Amino acid sequence: MAAKHEYYETLGVPRDAKEDEIRKNYRKLARKYHPDLNPGDKAAEERFKNVQEAYDVLSDAKKRQVYDQYGFYSDNIPQGGSGPGAGGRQNRQPNMDFGGFDFSEFINNQPRRPSAGTNGAFTGSGGGFRDLFTQFFGNRDREEAGASEPEKGADLEYGLNIDFWESIRGTQVKLSINRQELCPTCNGAGTADGNSAVCPECDGTGNVTQMAGAMKFTLTCPRCDGKGRLKNVCPTCNGDGRILRPESVEVRIPAGAQTGARLRVAGKGNIGRNGGSPGDLYITVRVEPHPFFQRDGDNIEIKVPVTVSEAGLGAKIEVPTIDGRALLKVPQGTSNGQKFRLREKGVMNSRKNHRGDEIVEVVIQAPKVQDERTRELLRELAQIHQEDPRAELWSKV
Ligand SMILES: [Zn+2]
Ligand SMILES: [Zn+2]
Repeated sequence: MAAKHEYYETLGVPRDAKEDEIRKNYRKLARKYHPDLNPGDKAAEERFKNVQEAYDVLSDAKKRQVYDQYGFYSDNIPQGGSGPGAGGRQNRQPNMDFGGFDFSEFINNQPRRPSAGTNGAFTGSGGGFRDLFTQFFGNRDREEAGASEPEKGADLEYGLNIDFWESIRGTQVKLSINRQELCPTCNGAGTADGNSAVCPECDGTGNVTQMAGAMKFTLTCPRCDGKGRLKNVCPTCNGDGRILRPESVEVRIPAGAQTGARLRVAGKGNIGRNGGSPGDLYITVRVEPHPFFQRDGDNIEIKVPVTVSEAGLGAKIEVPTIDGRALLKVPQGTSNGQKFRLREKGVMNSRKNHRGDEIVEVVIQAPKVQDERTRELLRELAQIHQEDPRAELWSKV
């Protein structure tokens, strides 16, 4: 009888083991001997019951205290009492058959999932058992997030290149994105009867590495217990309940979108868990540069070459705008680099319902001097204008 109640030995932990060590070993062993994973194996079933019993006592601080003190635990021992009487010893067998195990704390908050392969021995508490099992050893994300809490799906970020004209006029773009959807095979449960699959946690190696500061540890994979394979796993999603699927999403880029603009497409992120809403899709726009037009907020900037005579004598010239050609009056005596504003020839700002301007910077080009007549005229010009254009520079140096 005594050997049966070596709880610390059963769980493979020292007598001073901390709670989390006990829990960790319990999970490992319960998984190893779980009847679903060892169908028809009576020895494993017995070990499983013993592990359950040991954990029931050692995981409860009060029961553990009693056990440490008396070497066994029974509900009939007055906790913190002076010692077990003869009656206590007769009732040393804890009430640990499965029917009496209280699963309510696990069941209450469990989402209902299609149960896979209920073992005959556990029909009495099958649902609870399945759920308990799933909670401990199923998807760890779900476990850590609190199994039944609706969890919003992750947002997705995509970059989108558009050309200059698409940014000015707006455009409709068909994007192919990859988003997580509910697995159609298992409908999100992650399970499938009798199918075994390579463990995705360790890629079938049975080991996982963990970093603790600069130290790297190799541990037995907690999901498959080092076996490298999982049982009753949906083959489509590998137990995740979700699969990555390409999807075509139509996105409207509004007129005037600039590089860095971030557009939100509601509900087109990854699917949520436990009925949580899906995430959103965010599209960050990058506008390819135009060879001549430059954008500065709602304004368009452009450098326009003019001849010496146009700058000197004044002229009406045609300049490109995003609407086509526009007339610009270059006044007499315009200097190089001078800027002119064409009102409301810039980009439409739909929020302000107002267009920006086009800013034209003139660049004076010297004439090509290839003939004697041009040389003559320029010499003559120099004769008339003998002033030093660098005089102001010298006066301030
Ligand atoms: Zn699936
Ligand atoms: Zn594994």
